[in-house]
Amino acid sequence: MKKDFQIRLDATLYECWEDLPADYRQLILEARKATDESYAPYSQFHVGAAILLADGSMLRANNQENASYPCGACAEQSLLYYYGTRAKQSPIVAMAITARRAGSQEFIKITPCGKCRQVMLETYHRQKQAYVILLEYGKGQFLSLPSIEVLLPCNFNPEVLQENNP
Ligand SMILES: [Zn+2]
Repeated sequence: MKKDFQIRLDATLYECWEDLPADYRQLILEARKATDESYAPYSQFHVGAAILLADGSMLRANNQENASYPCGACAEQSLLYYYGTRAKQSPIVAMAITARRAGSQEFIKITPCGKCRQVMLETYHRQKQAYVILLEYGKGQFLSLPSIEVLLPCNFNPEVLQENNP
């Protein structure tokens, strides 16, 4: 028997800066600040990420490239691994991702790569709590997603491992 089904993508598009809640604006500014500190001499593509924690604090990081390209790290991974190294963290409530090209202050549309989505998913399972993903979406717009799960449907997760372990 064959059964077709659809996977829903719940998202909110903020069409301008003024539409964003104040805490999201702050988080995006923090992520944008992180692009100034990124190391992207090869791609010239500066990505910044920032997380808002339940205690109100924020952390930020960015992409770190390498002459041996695969050794580089995306902003999202740099940030979440750094976050993961700190014991007894307050949980993440939101994560913002932004990008711009070298020499430009125009922030452009960005969406996390597949590997970053998997790392973001692990953080979700680790803290057992969904967090909002806020993406710079180009032309002054922002896309908000309620959880990494909507960006990575049919994902590989801890339950898959458990179900397949005797
Ligand atoms: Zn990535």
